[in-house]
Amino acid sequence: VTRALIIGTGLIGGSVAAGLRAAGWRVTGCDERAAARALERGLVDEIGGLDSARAVDAVVLAVPVGATPGVLAQLAPHLARETVVTDVGSTKLGVLAAAASLPWPSRFVGGHPLAGTERSGPDAADARLFAGRRCLLTPGGADADAVALVENLWRALGAEVSSMTAAEHDQLLAAVSHLPHAVAFALAAAAGSALAGLGDVAGLHGAGFVDTTRIASSDGVMWRDIFLANRAPLLDALDRFEDELARLRAAVALGDVDGIAAAVERAHAGRRRVLG
Ligand code: NAP
Repeated sequence: VTRALIIGTGLIGGSVAAGLRAAGWRVTGCDERAAARALERGLVDEIGGLDSARAVDAVVLAVPVGATPGVLAQLAPHLARETVVTDVGSTKLGVLAAAASLPWPSRFVGGHPLAGTERSGPDAADARLFAGRRCLLTPGGADADAVALVENLWRALGAEVSSMTAAEHDQLLAAVSHLPHAVAFALAAAAGSALAGLGDVAGLHGAGFVDTTRIASSDGVMWRDIFLANRAPLLDALDRFEDELARLRAAVALGDVDGIAAAVERAHAGRRRVLG
Protein backbone atom coordinates (compact mmCIF):
# COMPACT_ATOMS: atom_id res chain seq x y z
CA VAL A 1 0.00 0.00 0.00
CA THR A 2 1.29 3.45 -0.90
CA ARG A 3 1.05 5.91 1.99
CA ALA A 4 0.55 9.66 1.85
CA LEU A 5 0.54 12.47 4.40
CA ILE A 6 -1.65 15.39 3.33
CA ILE A 7 -0.81 18.67 5.08
CA GLY A 8 -3.84 20.96 4.77
CA THR A 9 -7.07 19.01 4.36
CA GLY A 10 -9.15 21.79 2.78
CA LEU A 11 -10.71 21.81 -0.69
CA ILE A 12 -7.64 20.64 -2.61
CA GLY A 13 -5.89 18.60 0.10
CA GLY A 14 -9.17 16.95 1.10
CA SER A 15 -9.92 16.11 -2.53
CA VAL A 16 -6.43 14.63 -3.04
CA ALA A 17 -6.89 12.62 0.18
CA ALA A 18 -10.31 11.27 -0.78
CA GLY A 19 -9.20 10.43 -4.33
CA LEU A 20 -6.08 8.61 -3.12
CA ARG A 21 -8.10 6.65 -0.57
CA ALA A 22 -10.49 5.63 -3.35
CA ALA A 23 -7.44 4.47 -5.35
CA GLY A 24 -6.29 2.26 -2.45
CA TRP A 25 -3.66 4.51 -0.82
CA ARG A 26 -3.48 4.90 2.96
CA VAL A 27 -3.90 8.59 3.81
CA THR A 28 -3.00 10.54 6.94
CA GLY A 29 -4.33 14.10 7.28
CA CYS A 30 -2.49 16.85 9.16
CA ASP A 31 -4.11 20.18 9.95
CA GLU A 32 -4.83 22.63 12.73
CA ARG A 33 -8.62 22.73 12.37
CA ALA A 34 -9.79 21.09 9.14
CA ALA A 35 -8.52 17.52 9.73
CA ALA A 36 -11.24 16.58 12.25
CA ARG A 37 -13.91 17.39 9.66
CA ALA A 38 -11.88 15.61 6.96
CA LEU A 39 -11.82 12.47 9.12
CA GLU A 40 -15.54 12.80 9.87
CA ARG A 41 -16.24 13.01 6.12
CA GLY A 42 -14.02 9.96 5.46
CA LEU A 43 -11.56 11.95 3.32
CA VAL A 44 -8.59 10.58 5.34
CA ASP A 45 -7.91 7.28 7.12
CA GLU A 46 -6.45 8.98 10.20
CA ILE A 47 -5.16 12.24 11.62
CA GLY A 48 -1.46 12.63 12.39
CA GLY A 49 1.21 15.20 13.12
CA LEU A 50 4.11 16.30 10.91
CA ASP A 51 6.13 13.46 12.45
CA SER A 52 3.90 11.05 10.44
CA ALA A 53 6.05 12.10 7.43
CA ARG A 54 8.64 9.52 8.47
CA ALA A 55 6.20 6.67 7.80
CA VAL A 56 4.87 7.68 4.36
CA ASP A 57 5.97 7.47 0.72
CA ALA A 58 4.73 10.95 -0.23
CA VAL A 59 3.93 14.17 1.60
CA VAL A 60 1.48 16.51 -0.17
CA LEU A 61 1.41 20.16 0.93
CA ALA A 62 -1.99 21.77 0.32
CA VAL A 63 -1.85 25.01 2.32
CA PRO A 64 -2.00 28.61 1.00
CA VAL A 65 1.26 29.39 -0.90
CA GLY A 66 2.24 32.06 1.65
CA ALA A 67 2.21 29.42 4.41
CA THR A 68 4.21 26.87 2.39
CA PRO A 69 7.79 27.99 3.32
CA GLY A 70 6.95 27.90 7.05
CA VAL A 71 5.30 24.48 6.82
CA LEU A 72 8.25 23.08 4.80
CA ALA A 73 10.66 24.32 7.48
CA GLN A 74 8.59 22.64 10.23
CA LEU A 75 8.36 19.47 8.15
CA ALA A 76 12.10 19.22 7.36
CA PRO A 77 13.25 17.52 10.61
CA HIS A 78 10.61 14.80 10.16
CA LEU A 79 11.59 13.74 6.64
CA ALA A 80 13.30 10.47 5.80
CA ARG A 81 15.92 10.44 3.00
CA GLU A 82 13.63 8.71 0.49
CA THR A 83 10.32 10.50 1.27
CA VAL A 84 8.92 12.38 -1.72
CA VAL A 85 7.47 15.83 -1.04
CA THR A 86 5.09 17.59 -3.42
CA ASP A 87 2.60 20.45 -3.28
CA VAL A 88 -0.51 21.77 -5.03
CA GLY A 89 0.21 25.50 -4.83
CA SER A 90 -1.03 27.87 -7.51
CA THR A 91 2.41 29.52 -7.91
CA LYS A 92 5.67 27.63 -8.29
CA LEU A 93 8.88 29.76 -8.25
CA GLY A 94 8.46 30.78 -4.59
CA VAL A 95 7.55 27.25 -3.49
CA LEU A 96 10.56 25.82 -5.35
CA ALA A 97 12.87 28.38 -3.71
CA ALA A 98 11.55 27.34 -0.27
CA ALA A 99 11.95 23.64 -1.12
CA ALA A 100 15.64 24.26 -1.91
CA SER A 101 16.23 24.49 1.87
CA LEU A 102 14.86 20.98 2.51
CA PRO A 103 17.47 18.45 3.66
CA TRP A 104 17.05 16.57 0.32
CA PRO A 105 15.77 19.09 -2.26
CA SER A 106 15.87 16.53 -5.10
CA ARG A 107 12.99 14.68 -3.36
CA PHE A 108 10.71 17.72 -3.93
CA VAL A 109 8.48 17.84 -7.01
CA GLY A 110 6.31 20.94 -7.48
CA GLY A 111 2.73 20.32 -8.61
CA HIS A 112 -0.39 22.29 -9.46
CA PRO A 113 -3.71 20.69 -10.43
CA LEU A 114 -5.70 22.87 -12.83
CA ALA A 115 -8.93 22.12 -11.02
CA GLY A 116 -10.74 23.69 -8.14
CA THR A 117 -13.76 25.73 -7.24
CA GLU A 118 -14.51 29.05 -5.56
CA ARG A 119 -15.37 27.12 -2.37
CA SER A 120 -12.90 26.12 0.34
CA GLY A 121 -12.51 23.74 3.27
CA PRO A 122 -13.01 19.98 3.69
CA ASP A 123 -16.77 20.23 3.14
CA ALA A 124 -16.10 21.27 -0.47
CA ALA A 125 -13.66 18.38 -1.09
CA ASP A 126 -14.51 15.83 -3.77
CA ALA A 127 -12.60 12.64 -4.71
CA ARG A 128 -13.48 13.23 -8.39
CA LEU A 129 -12.30 16.88 -8.50
CA PHE A 130 -9.22 16.06 -10.63
CA ALA A 131 -10.74 13.44 -12.94
CA GLY A 132 -10.13 14.41 -16.55
CA ARG A 133 -8.32 17.62 -15.52
CA ARG A 134 -4.71 18.64 -16.13
CA CYS A 135 -1.99 18.68 -13.50
CA LEU A 136 1.21 20.66 -14.12
CA LEU A 137 4.46 19.46 -12.54
CA THR A 138 7.58 21.61 -12.19
CA PRO A 139 10.18 18.90 -11.41
CA GLY A 140 13.30 21.12 -11.82
CA GLY A 141 16.19 18.93 -10.66
CA ALA A 142 14.07 16.32 -8.85
CA ASP A 143 15.05 12.63 -8.83
CA ALA A 144 13.42 10.58 -11.60
CA ASP A 145 11.80 8.14 -9.13
CA ALA A 146 10.33 11.06 -7.15
CA VAL A 147 8.84 12.54 -10.33
CA ALA A 148 7.46 9.11 -11.29
CA LEU A 149 5.75 8.73 -7.89
CA VAL A 150 4.11 12.17 -8.15
CA GLU A 151 3.00 11.40 -11.72
CA ASN A 152 1.45 8.16 -10.45
CA LEU A 153 -0.29 10.03 -7.65
CA TRP A 154 -2.02 12.41 -10.09
CA ARG A 155 -2.84 9.63 -12.53
CA ALA A 156 -4.45 7.71 -9.63
CA LEU A 157 -6.66 10.80 -9.19
CA GLY A 158 -7.60 10.68 -12.88
CA ALA A 159 -5.57 13.73 -13.94
CA GLU A 160 -3.43 14.14 -17.07
CA VAL A 161 0.10 15.20 -16.14
CA SER A 162 2.45 17.58 -17.98
CA SER A 163 5.74 19.19 -16.94
CA MET A 164 7.25 22.64 -17.42
CA THR A 165 9.64 25.01 -15.64
CA ALA A 166 8.43 26.95 -12.63
CA ALA A 167 8.96 30.26 -14.50
CA GLU A 168 6.85 29.05 -17.45
CA HIS A 169 4.19 27.85 -15.03
CA ASP A 170 3.99 31.20 -13.25
CA GLN A 171 3.81 33.20 -16.51
CA LEU A 172 1.11 30.87 -17.89
CA LEU A 173 -0.99 30.95 -14.71
CA ALA A 174 -0.69 34.74 -14.41
CA ALA A 175 -2.44 34.97 -17.79
CA VAL A 176 -5.05 32.22 -17.51
CA SER A 177 -5.87 32.24 -13.79
CA HIS A 178 -4.41 35.05 -11.71
CA LEU A 179 -5.41 37.86 -14.10
CA PRO A 180 -9.00 36.52 -14.44
CA HIS A 181 -9.31 36.35 -10.64
CA ALA A 182 -7.92 39.88 -10.16
CA VAL A 183 -10.28 41.20 -12.84
CA ALA A 184 -13.26 39.31 -11.37
CA PHE A 185 -12.58 40.82 -7.92
CA ALA A 186 -12.34 44.33 -9.43
CA LEU A 187 -15.35 43.74 -11.70
CA ALA A 188 -17.65 42.63 -8.88
CA ALA A 189 -16.50 45.55 -6.71
CA ALA A 190 -17.03 48.05 -9.56
CA ALA A 191 -20.49 46.64 -10.35
CA GLY A 192 -21.40 47.03 -6.67
CA SER A 193 -20.31 50.67 -6.59
CA ALA A 194 -21.99 51.44 -9.95
CA LEU A 195 -25.32 50.56 -8.29
CA ALA A 196 -25.03 53.47 -5.84
CA GLY A 197 -28.40 55.20 -5.38
CA LEU A 198 -30.46 52.45 -7.06
CA GLY A 199 -31.96 50.99 -3.87
CA ASP A 200 -32.61 47.24 -3.57
CA VAL A 201 -31.72 45.60 -6.89
CA ALA A 202 -30.68 42.18 -5.49
CA GLY A 203 -31.38 39.40 -8.01
CA LEU A 204 -31.85 41.78 -10.95
CA HIS A 205 -29.04 40.54 -13.19
CA GLY A 206 -28.43 38.25 -16.14
CA ALA A 207 -26.16 35.23 -16.55
CA GLY A 208 -23.26 37.47 -17.67
CA PHE A 209 -22.71 38.85 -14.17
CA VAL A 210 -22.72 35.35 -12.66
CA ASP A 211 -20.40 33.92 -15.35
CA THR A 212 -17.82 36.70 -15.11
CA THR A 213 -17.80 37.03 -11.30
CA ARG A 214 -18.26 33.47 -9.96
CA ILE A 215 -14.57 33.35 -9.00
CA ALA A 216 -14.86 36.71 -7.20
CA SER A 217 -16.35 34.78 -4.25
CA SER A 218 -13.04 32.86 -3.86
CA ASP A 219 -11.11 32.84 -0.59
CA GLY A 220 -9.27 36.09 0.25
CA VAL A 221 -6.26 34.56 2.02
CA MET A 222 -5.55 32.11 -0.76
CA TRP A 223 -5.71 34.85 -3.42
CA ARG A 224 -3.74 37.38 -1.39
CA ASP A 225 -0.93 34.79 -1.22
CA ILE A 226 -1.11 34.00 -4.94
CA PHE A 227 -1.10 37.66 -6.00
CA LEU A 228 1.91 38.42 -3.76
CA ALA A 229 3.81 35.27 -4.78
CA ASN A 230 3.40 35.95 -8.52
CA ARG A 231 3.68 39.72 -8.48
CA ALA A 232 5.81 40.45 -11.58
CA PRO A 233 3.95 38.17 -14.06
CA LEU A 234 0.61 39.33 -12.64
CA LEU A 235 1.55 43.02 -12.95
CA ASP A 236 2.56 42.41 -16.57
CA ALA A 237 -0.79 40.70 -17.29
CA LEU A 238 -2.67 43.52 -15.50
CA ASP A 239 -0.83 46.11 -17.65
CA ARG A 240 -2.02 44.29 -20.77
CA PHE A 241 -5.55 44.18 -19.38
CA GLU A 242 -5.52 47.90 -18.58
CA ASP A 243 -4.29 48.58 -22.13
CA GLU A 244 -7.11 46.49 -23.65
CA LEU A 245 -9.69 48.12 -21.41
CA ALA A 246 -8.39 51.61 -22.29
CA ARG A 247 -8.61 50.81 -26.02
CA LEU A 248 -12.17 49.51 -25.64
CA ARG A 249 -13.12 52.51 -23.50
CA ALA A 250 -11.69 54.95 -26.06
CA ALA A 251 -13.56 53.21 -28.90
CA VAL A 252 -16.83 53.41 -26.94
CA ALA A 253 -16.22 57.07 -26.00
CA LEU A 254 -15.49 58.02 -29.64
CA GLY A 255 -18.35 55.94 -31.08
CA ASP A 256 -15.61 54.08 -33.04
CA VAL A 257 -17.53 51.13 -34.54
CA ASP A 258 -14.41 49.53 -36.06
CA GLY A 259 -12.48 49.99 -32.81
CA ILE A 260 -15.16 48.13 -30.83
CA ALA A 261 -15.27 45.35 -33.45
CA ALA A 262 -11.46 45.04 -33.30
CA ALA A 263 -11.53 44.79 -29.48
CA VAL A 264 -14.10 41.97 -29.67
CA GLU A 265 -12.05 40.23 -32.41
CA ARG A 266 -8.91 40.38 -30.20
CA ALA A 267 -11.04 38.90 -27.37
CA HIS A 268 -12.19 36.00 -29.55
CA ALA A 269 -8.60 35.32 -30.68
CA GLY A 270 -7.30 35.39 -27.09
CA ARG A 271 -10.00 33.00 -25.93
CA ARG A 272 -9.26 30.58 -28.83
CA ARG A 273 -5.54 30.69 -27.98
CA VAL A 274 -6.22 29.72 -24.35
CA LEU A 275 -9.02 27.20 -24.84
CA GLY A 276 -7.59 25.59 -27.98
P1 NAP B 1 -8.60 25.68 1.65
O1 NAP B 1 -9.78 24.86 1.30
O2 NAP B 1 -8.79 26.97 2.37
O3 NAP B 1 -7.59 24.79 2.46
C1 NAP B 1 -6.38 25.32 2.97
C2 NAP B 1 -5.82 24.38 4.01
O4 NAP B 1 -4.59 24.94 4.51
C3 NAP B 1 -6.74 24.19 5.20
O5 NAP B 1 -6.67 22.85 5.54
C4 NAP B 1 -6.11 25.06 6.28
O6 NAP B 1 -6.26 24.46 7.55
C5 NAP B 1 -4.66 25.05 5.94
N1 NAP B 1 -3.98 26.30 6.32
C6 NAP B 1 -4.42 27.56 6.11
N2 NAP B 1 -3.53 28.46 6.55
C7 NAP B 1 -2.50 27.75 7.06
C8 NAP B 1 -1.28 28.11 7.69
N3 NAP B 1 -0.93 29.40 7.85
N4 NAP B 1 -0.45 27.10 8.08
C9 NAP B 1 -0.80 25.81 7.91
N5 NAP B 1 -1.96 25.42 7.31
C10 NAP B 1 -2.79 26.38 6.90
O7 NAP B 1 -7.74 26.07 0.34
P2 NAP B 1 -7.54 25.25 -1.01
O8 NAP B 1 -8.43 25.83 -2.04
O9 NAP B 1 -7.58 23.79 -0.75
O10 NAP B 1 -6.06 25.70 -1.39
C11 NAP B 1 -4.93 24.99 -0.93
C12 NAP B 1 -3.79 25.18 -1.93
O11 NAP B 1 -4.22 24.70 -3.21
C13 NAP B 1 -3.34 26.62 -2.13
O12 NAP B 1 -1.94 26.68 -2.19
C14 NAP B 1 -3.92 26.99 -3.47
O13 NAP B 1 -3.11 27.93 -4.13
C15 NAP B 1 -3.93 25.66 -4.20
N6 NAP B 1 -4.93 25.48 -5.26
C16 NAP B 1 -6.21 25.90 -5.07
C17 NAP B 1 -7.15 25.72 -6.08
C18 NAP B 1 -8.59 26.16 -5.90
O14 NAP B 1 -9.33 26.27 -6.87
N7 NAP B 1 -9.04 26.43 -4.69
C19 NAP B 1 -6.80 25.07 -7.28
C20 NAP B 1 -5.48 24.61 -7.41
C21 NAP B 1 -4.56 24.83 -6.41
P3 NAP B 1 -7.20 25.06 8.71
O15 NAP B 1 -8.54 25.33 8.07
O16 NAP B 1 -7.19 23.98 9.71
O17 NAP B 1 -6.51 26.31 9.12
